[in-house]
Amino acid sequence: MFISGLISVEALLIALTALSLGGLGLLFWREWSETAPTTAAPSSAPPDTGFTATALLLDREASAVLSLVRTYLDAGERYSVSLAQAGQSLPTLATPDEIGIIVKFLLAENAKMQHEAGELKKSLEQSKSQIDKLRSHLAEAQEIGMRDPLTSLRNRRCFDDSLATELANARARGTALSLVMADIDNFKRVNDLFGHQVGDEILKTFARVIADNVRATDTIARYGGEEFAIILPETQVENARLLTERIRAELEAMQLAVKESGEQIGKITASFGIAELDDGDDANALIQRADVKLYQAKCEGKNRVAADEMAA
Ligand code: GH3
Ligand code: MG
Ligand code: MG
Repeated sequence: MFISGLISVEALLIALTALSLGGLGLLFWREWSETAPTTAAPSSAPPDTGFTATALLLDREASAVLSLVRTYLDAGERYSVSLAQAGQSLPTLATPDEIGIIVKFLLAENAKMQHEAGELKKSLEQSKSQIDKLRSHLAEAQEIGMRDPLTSLRNRRCFDDSLATELANARARGTALSLVMADIDNFKRVNDLFGHQVGDEILKTFARVIADNVRATDTIARYGGEEFAIILPETQVENARLLTERIRAELEAMQLAVKESGEQIGKITASFGIAELDDGDDANALIQRADVKLYQAKCEGKNRVAADEMAA
């Protein structure tokens, strides 16, 4: 029958909206909990990349949808009451006129309900498109929150998450994993000689050199000021060393000059430390072993790769 068909289509729409809001709620909760500052110091709080504004808009949209659904449910309840009353009076009706009145009444009620359902559908469609937009803003904000603004590489927070994930994957699959820590040599001097902006350009250049040499499955992050980390899944230390040596040589071979003046910057080099995941390692131990190797590379004269061969 038409009436029950109408109600079930709308009920489906409501259920779908509720489901999509539920999903968004979860997504948003994750966003919020990931970006919520863990310390009170304002300087250490991650930048607000649009979460707050998006959160407010989402909140408003969720309230609007809820109120729409409530309105529709109220209308449905009134309609059921009207139907029940008409059903009760049917056996007592004697004349065609009386039956005509009831039929007219039912037709009017049905038209009202149909109108309400149409309005609800329109409003829900508007809300859905608004929610879709907000969802994509949220995804953008999430992406921005994971990246270092200067180099566009993953930031430290994202690196920690990625390393934990890759470490768990390596353990579960029984595959190798290597970690490279890299640090530009004498970078303070570069800044002192050419200025901070030139220093920034060099950081971007180094980031590009690394990115050009790794696979899509590898993770590069800006670990600190002029320090970078590369997670190499399914890579043993010897292959990690070959790859890192290529990056080192490519950077060393670059002829860099100041863009505006053409002034030669001279050779920029970096030092690298590599560790391969060992049985007893957690993320911290792996980072520490790679750091020890980086320190060794610096002590042995910089512009070199030192690798921890213990796990090989
Ligand atoms: P080493 O070879 O031992 O690594 O020496 P270094 O000079 O590279 O290391 P040091 O730790 O003494 O100095 C690091 C410098 O990196 C100092 C700091 O100002 C600079 N730096 C950190 N972050 C940035 C940045 O975002 N932009 C620029 N231009 N410089 C940065
Ligand atoms: Mg340095
Ligand atoms: Mg350093």
